[in-house]
Amino acid sequence: AHIIRELRRPVRYETHDCRFGASIGIACDSGPTLDAKQLLLNADIALYRAKGGGRNRHEFFSLDAQHHIVTTKRLSDEILLGIERHEFVPFYQPQFCARSLDVVGTEALIRWNHPVRGLLGPDRFLSIAEDLDVVATLDALVLQQALADHRQWCEAGVDIPKISVNVSARRLADPALAKTIRALKIKPGTVSFELLESISLEECNDASIANLKQLKKLGVDIEIDDFGTGHASIVSLLRLSPKTLKIDRELIKPLPQSAEQRRLVGSIIEIGRSLGIRVTAEGVETMHHAHILAELGCDNLQGYALARPMAAADIPAFIRGESWRANDRGARVI
Ligand code: C2E
Ligand code: CA
Ligand code: CA
Ligand code: CA
Repeated sequence: AHIIRELRRPVRYETHDCRFGASIGIACDSGPTLDAKQLLLNADIALYRAKGGGRNRHEFFSLDAQHHIVTTKRLSDEILLGIERHEFVPFYQPQFCARSLDVVGTEALIRWNHPVRGLLGPDRFLSIAEDLDVVATLDALVLQQALADHRQWCEAGVDIPKISVNVSARRLADPALAKTIRALKIKPGTVSFELLESISLEECNDASIANLKQLKKLGVDIEIDDFGTGHASIVSLLRLSPKTLKIDRELIKPLPQSAEQRRLVGSIIEIGRSLGIRVTAEGVETMHHAHILAELGCDNLQGYALARPMAAADIPAFIRGESWRANDRGARVI
């Protein structure tokens, strides 16, 4: 720490002051005897951690750090291989009309069919995929598969009004995106892109804005994902002219216990209504939540209480079962 402090002192270079930073990795020859090469390697691992932890700090080598790096490296290799081997597939979570409980769409959520570890969720690989800069590749793959699955469901006589896919900031900035969508000739209103609230216009570059405009012309709807957790201003979000706001599940969870929370969510729904923006609640874990949200005037619901994400092949049977149940509900009302 002392060395780093000394190194951070400004240094006079010709006419101006310069400042340097330093990160230090430390490895000691303890435990089983290590050769110089291994010792340097360990110091390097510690250095990597020091930089990753925010720079201008020091870090000691630890077996934990080594383990972390080895697993990350292995996962990175496996992700690249998995893309080639078509191991990444979307699962689908149905979304429901809050009043009728009819299925109004499905959200595609990526899964990794790992040959050894089984089915993995995005929390296990998305951040590594981000470091590898392949999230846009995965997004493209999910979109393509989702459109193919959607077509198959239709052919099987199962009508699902729309599919939603998650779009990373990287993908939105890809100039090829609008071209791809144009080539796919989607039916307007049948495809939504879910953008995280953090992709507000302020952070969008010119390519993203151009893409967004094109996408809307091509009939793609925009949904703001995880609404209520980011720091984007409402004004900047409205500039994306979203069709839908998806209220984050952290805001939904406390609804049964907290009247204040019900007022908060109720006013988000009010804002949506007055601006002609639909509101979807995510993370609807109990039917009690579903009832509260329906009373508050929420348009659509998504969550474990109604349906979990499932494989494409399971969607038709699920939808048929649901419509049967919906008819049954209708019959009982009459
Ligand atoms: P998200 O877009 O907010 O998706 C909703 C997440 O909540 C999903 O997790 C879903 O399985 C989970 N969920 C649904 N209902 C409930 C519920 O009632 N309770 C709780 N606790 N959770 C529920 P999942 O599939 O693990 O996805 C996590 C995140 O990974 C997604 O959050 C999304 O940000 C990202 N992601 C998923 N697929 C893709 C993709 O194809 N591309 C990109 N860029 N990101 C993706
Ligand atoms: Ca989403
Ligand atoms: Ca979300
Ligand atoms: Ca989320």
